[in-house]
Amino acid sequence: MKVSCAAGVYGGVRASVKIILLGPPGSGKGTQGAALSKSLQVPEISTGDMLRQAVAEKTALGQQVGDVINQGCLVPDDLIISVIEERISREDCENGFILDGFPRTIEQGEALERVLPDSVDVVIYFNVSSEAVVARLAGRLTCRKCGAVYPNMDTSLCSVCRGDLYQREDDMTSTVLRRLKLYREHTEPLVAFYRDKGKLAEIDGEGSVEEIAQRVEEGIAQVLA
Ligand SMILES: [Zn+2]
Repeated sequence: MKVSCAAGVYGGVRASVKIILLGPPGSGKGTQGAALSKSLQVPEISTGDMLRQAVAEKTALGQQVGDVINQGCLVPDDLIISVIEERISREDCENGFILDGFPRTIEQGEALERVLPDSVDVVIYFNVSSEAVVARLAGRLTCRKCGAVYPNMDTSLCSVCRGDLYQREDDMTSTVLRRLKLYREHTEPLVAFYRDKGKLAEIDGEGSVEEIAQRVEEGIAQVLA
């Protein structure tokens, strides 16, 4: 990723850039989000991580969220949006942010537009076929000791710590297929939703990390142009 180039393209033209990452599990959006966060020098905000952290730290919000989850209910959209609103009002989001994990449904996308109408500039959509997702995730091994992730079955020992590698339950084919089905049904309609608003950067998510990073950079520039 050409750091100086990205900073020049976006930094010079705009005061800030507010990005949402969209794509199926295993689309590589986590990897690209982390690289983008570095090159644009804006925080990557994962709503899932924020909620889990609030519950663990037993903050006022965390207790509210914990109660909802303990009652077996989903965290309501307006609660998540108020969490996002608070988070993006902090100083480190002055130049923008990258939001991952929200919205996941059309209803959430509409609620976000309603409550925080100027909260999105670009939605980066990582288009990856189901076959590629299954091949990526279902072939993935994780180190029992240090958590290092290996993309395929070629090895059985971790090269970092020599620990055993195993297949996480999340990465097994049946689990991957179930998550994909949920994604296609509930989350994918957001692609058309943001395309209609002229905010969608559709990226071919198959290829090397560097190739995809290049496409992301071009995609953002096109939407902002
Ligand atoms: Zn290891």
